[in-house]
Amino acid sequence: AVEIRNLHKSFGALQVLKGIDFTVDPGQVVCVIGPSGSGKSTLLRCVNLLEEPTSGQVVVDGVELTHRDVDIDAARRRVGMVFQQFNLFPHMTALENVMIAQRRVLKRGRAEAERIAVENLEKVGVADKRDSYPAQLSGGQQQRVAIARALAMSPALMLFDEPTSALDPELVGDVLTVMRKLAEEGMTMLVVTHEMAFARDVADRVVFMDGGVIVEDGPAEQVIGAPRHERTKSFLRRVL
Ligand code: ATP
Ligand code: MG
Repeated sequence: AVEIRNLHKSFGALQVLKGIDFTVDPGQVVCVIGPSGSGKSTLLRCVNLLEEPTSGQVVVDGVELTHRDVDIDAARRRVGMVFQQFNLFPHMTALENVMIAQRRVLKRGRAEAERIAVENLEKVGVADKRDSYPAQLSGGQQQRVAIARALAMSPALMLFDEPTSALDPELVGDVLTVMRKLAEEGMTMLVVTHEMAFARDVADRVVFMDGGVIVEDGPAEQVIGAPRHERTKSFLRRVL
């Protein structure tokens, strides 16, 4: 589970997150939607401490990541993140990309890391590309390798920041299918997305953010299908 309590984040004088509260229960999928600049990426980056929150708490599976005594690296290992730009190492094959953090961070032996890498490449449907370099893969394949890389670390929580936004339209479906499968398997997921059909079908809850606050948080069918707030309505009119 993830609990976010009264989270604030400022960059200098710019207040980006102005008191965010919400919980993702184990096995839940929560989608975050909202206009550009509303603070969605900053929120995700605060959840795995890529950004240090200005104040407030982030608790993942009972461990308060924002506690000053916490081992940040150990805490961060529990959270997998998938970015819009896939961020694979260009000089490593797909297999090596999925093995490297397992070896360096989790200190898994070569054989075990390889076995887990292959399992996860199979799960996302790119095991046949294990020896290809990122430049030899389509965007959708690269993103699926990036998902396999995050999964290979056995995370308690997966964060996705617009994982399909950089993809050609015909490649979006493959990545969403993998994410759907993960959701069905019970992975706890926090997903920033513009894919409203995905949010409506897969998310247990949808959170609408605007201007650094949560405007609306509820079941997908309510927030997307029957929004209560004018700001949510006007956003949805623009994206649907
Ligand atoms: P988009 O939909 O375009 O990805 P977003 O909702 O993810 O937008 P953020 O990337 O979280 O928005 O940015 C929120 C605000 O914080 C923006 O005004 C942005 O310029 C600002 N911001 C983000 N990161 C930094 C940073 N490292 N330093 C200064 N300002 C930042
Ligand atoms: Mg963003």
